[in-house]
Amino acid sequence: MELIIYHLMIGHCMKNKLLKDHFLHPRNVGMLENYDQKIIVKSDQCNDVVTFTVTIGNKKIKNIQFEAYGCGYAIAGASLVSEVVKGKDIDTGINDVEELLMRMDISCSNRRCVQLSLQAIKKLRENVQTNECTT
Ligand SMILES: [Zn+2]
Repeated sequence: MELIIYHLMIGHCMKNKLLKDHFLHPRNVGMLENYDQKIIVKSDQCNDVVTFTVTIGNKKIKNIQFEAYGCGYAIAGASLVSEVVKGKDIDTGINDVEELLMRMDISCSNRRCVQLSLQAIKKLRENVQTNECTT
C-alpha cells in the first residue's frame, strides 16, 4: 500500500520537474545545532509537519535546514523554499518564493502543502521583527 502511494506521489510530482527534483533529492535536510529561530508549521489538511531551524545574520538567512513529515509536496516544498531563501534577506526570500509558486502549475490541494513552508518563512519574519522591537 505504501509503495503504491509513493509511486502515485512521484507520478503527480512529475508534472512539475522542479518539485519532483526536490522530492527525490531534498536539499538542506536536518536540524541545525545552533540556530537563532525554530519554526514549526502544521497543516490540518494531510497532517504535514515541517520544522525549520534558521541562523540569521545581518538580516539575512545565513543557514536553514528542515525536517518534514508529511506528503511528498510538503517535503518538496520545504526543500524548494529552503533553497530559494538561503543567503537572502527574509523579505527578498519571501518575494522570490511567492513569484516562483505563482508560476508553478500545482493543483489547489497540493499547493497548500507546498505553501506551508512559505508560511513558515513568514512566521520567521514576524519572529525576527518582534525580537527587534524588544531590544
Ligand atoms: Zn500535504
